[in-house]
Amino acid sequence: MKAPAFSYVKPGALSEVFDLLERHGDRARVLAGGQSLLASLNLRLSEPELLVDITGVPGLSGITVSNRTLRIGALTTHRQIEHSPEVARHLPLLAQAVRNVGHVAIRNVGTFGGSIALADPAAEYPACAVALDATFVLAGRGAERRVKAREFFRGLYQTALKPGELVMAGEFPVPDERYRSVFLELARRRGDYAIVGLAAHARMAGGLISDARLAFLGAGSTPVLAVRAAAALEGRPPDAQAVAAAQSVLDEELEMPADLYSSHATKLHLARVLLGRALGALAG
Ligand SMILES: Cc1cc2nc3c(=O)[nH]c(=O)nc-3n(C[C@H](O)[C@H](O)[C@H](O)COP(=O)(O)OP(=O)(O)OC[C@H]3O[C@@H](n4cnc5c(N)ncnc54)[C@H](O)[C@@H]3O)c2cc1C
Repeated sequence: MKAPAFSYVKPGALSEVFDLLERHGDRARVLAGGQSLLASLNLRLSEPELLVDITGVPGLSGITVSNRTLRIGALTTHRQIEHSPEVARHLPLLAQAVRNVGHVAIRNVGTFGGSIALADPAAEYPACAVALDATFVLAGRGAERRVKAREFFRGLYQTALKPGELVMAGEFPVPDERYRSVFLELARRRGDYAIVGLAAHARMAGGLISDARLAFLGAGSTPVLAVRAAAALEGRPPDAQAVAAAQSVLDEELEMPADLYSSHATKLHLARVLLGRALGALAG
């Protein structure tokens, strides 16, 4: 199908973006990489009158590290994240996850901020941001605020963004060297959205697990932090007993809505499998 008719504007300054969003209200949509928005227009799931292309706004792209915080600008592409030495060094979880985002053609243009704002429950970044306790920088006209990833994702495709606000960046605390990470997902075909995935991050000291963060994707309407499973691992080695203890509480925590291809029971089984594999990888 073809997209409905719309007007297009590409401002060169943030103030112009905020003017346009204020003037046109919910008849305008922000356009970044277009990898999700243009498909939704073509399917006529959305019919905005105006697309405000933010890719001409300076200062919204790039990866920087300072004061043990890694900051990713909203317009940073998936490909830039994939090839970033800073991300590889400081956030191996994100470096592993980004390789699962679509295909190279999508990663070349799709952006970090677009994925966060879209808040697809099967997307990789939201789960990583929750596991890594990231904070998002949001801005509207004249005001900037910070919202924790754990409070940002509010429901299916729903976020803490207010009308007229943009995602400006994500700020990730750089973990110390005792932390290990593993990102795993199961998809029908390489490049598809995950059926179920797991962003696992934990401190491993003296062979014992602590501060485990197990963020599942494809397991509910938002990324789901499995806190009871993590508690079952606290202070234990990642052995078969610990794996079984964590797996046994997963069904209390994961909503696991069935989709077109997989039942609730199948998805729960896959989540348990991923948890077992993740703990094996953390141990190794
Ligand atoms: C075939 C295919 C497979 C894909 N597979 C995956 C996958 O496996 N995993 C995955 O995570 N994604 C996947 N994607 C989506 C891809 O990652 C997109 O790049 C991403 O979801 C949106 O980023 P974008 O820059 O393209 O945003 P756009 O499509 O331009 O925008 C998406 C939404 O976010 C809003 N928006 C964009 N930027 C901002 C901002 N800075 N502030 C506020 N609102 C903003 C837009 O208004 C729109 O509502 C896939 C896409 C395709 C076409």
